[in-house]
Amino acid sequence: KTTSNGTDPRAIRQWDNEHFFHPWDSMGVAGMDRVIAHEAKGIYLYDPQGRRYIDGPGGMWNVQIGYGREEMAQAIARQAMSLSYHSPWAFASEPSAVLAKKLADMAPGDLNSVFFTTGGSSAVDSALRFAQFYNNLRGKSQKKLFIAREKGYHGSTYLSATVSGKERDKSFLDTEKRLVRFLPNVNPYVRPEGMSVEDWCDLKVQDLETAIVEAGPENVAAFIAEPILASGGVIVPPPGYHRRTLEVCRRHDVLYISDEVVTAFGRLGHWFASEPVFDIVPDIVTCAKGLTSGYLPLGACIISDRLIDEVSGPDRESVLFSNGYTYSGHPVCCAAALKNIEIMERENLLEHVRQVTPKFQARLKAQSRFEIVGDARGMGLVGCVECHVPEGRGRSEADRLELDKDIGARIDAKCEEMGLIVRPLINMCVFSPPLIITEDEIDEMFDILERAIARVE
Ligand code: PLP
Repeated sequence: KTTSNGTDPRAIRQWDNEHFFHPWDSMGVAGMDRVIAHEAKGIYLYDPQGRRYIDGPGGMWNVQIGYGREEMAQAIARQAMSLSYHSPWAFASEPSAVLAKKLADMAPGDLNSVFFTTGGSSAVDSALRFAQFYNNLRGKSQKKLFIAREKGYHGSTYLSATVSGKERDKSFLDTEKRLVRFLPNVNPYVRPEGMSVEDWCDLKVQDLETAIVEAGPENVAAFIAEPILASGGVIVPPPGYHRRTLEVCRRHDVLYISDEVVTAFGRLGHWFASEPVFDIVPDIVTCAKGLTSGYLPLGACIISDRLIDEVSGPDRESVLFSNGYTYSGHPVCCAAALKNIEIMERENLLEHVRQVTPKFQARLKAQSRFEIVGDARGMGLVGCVECHVPEGRGRSEADRLELDKDIGARIDAKCEEMGLIVRPLINMCVFSPPLIITEDEIDEMFDILERAIARVE
């Protein structure tokens, strides 16, 4: 049997194994015999044999409005026919101008300057470069250090990878270590026994202040943080953490960059989470992913008027922010983003997320009843089940830790047999389904997960 494009699925599998060097590919035996994603509709993916899978991670936390929307295809086709591309250096265009205005209106506080990028990594890269550029223009060129967090993930360009703090990701690749200091894990789950969450928050805020003071505030450009550490394991910081870390930044003239690549566009029930959920107006916000629901690649870094005003003026004509991409503000990608936002508005998706969140979070947290589940946590429509192989059963501690390493993959394999894709991350499984998911579909997803966990236990 061939696909509708005429390729035998066995050839797809073979060529994928032999030639597609995937992100985070293992350097072990080549090829992983991945499921072939052939078609998709709503929250479901289908392989060439027509097997159906619920897309638990919603693509890569990005397929907000679900798959297979004809309106999206039409908007993309219309724009590609009328103006498929223009240089962002030389021209303005309707889709990029309208989208820039829309994002400025949606973004917190005075964040009004929208710098378009090709995705999340390049949005973070641009934010970090802007922070250094800003300090150079203020005559503070020694302010170059970034403070980031263990388990944070900010992307795969050299600079965004530099501020990413996931240990395993760093092990074989070089990054600019002199540019960054990492703060220890903020996860309340790992706080010492007997310590309250409030005391944990004090400690974590103090970690930032100590890092700034030790490095010397005159050397620190910015603190970068995800509102929820997403691929680090959906780590929700203790209440008040972001507001208090922002205050620390303000005291020391350090910029606060909120990386909302995962949390923006409805994941937590709001366009941006910073202000309504975490009570902060950062200096710079980055976004991507849900901006187009994955129909086309696009990202943005949105900068506050305060920063722009401080470093611009009539005498700055010859000063250029020499940063940008051939595809900055790509008209077809911007048209896709506008249609995506229009659909989210028309279908009241933010409200829908707020309505189904209690069900999603209740089913997620109920996973804690399994012996292998150490913690089940999340917020909005994002969640993580963290597992550990139980003690005893004749296993040594070393064996147990070794088994922990692929427990996520083993749960994922069982889920896959039953028609659910989850995102395994070492000993964790992560969920961020399309925002259109219904309560019945949430039940279907967790019913499968529970059967899978029971088989792995
Ligand atoms: N920032 C965060 C918080 C992310 O989760 C990601 C990707 O997962 C990125 C940045 C990088 O985005 P992209 O993969 O679009 O470059």
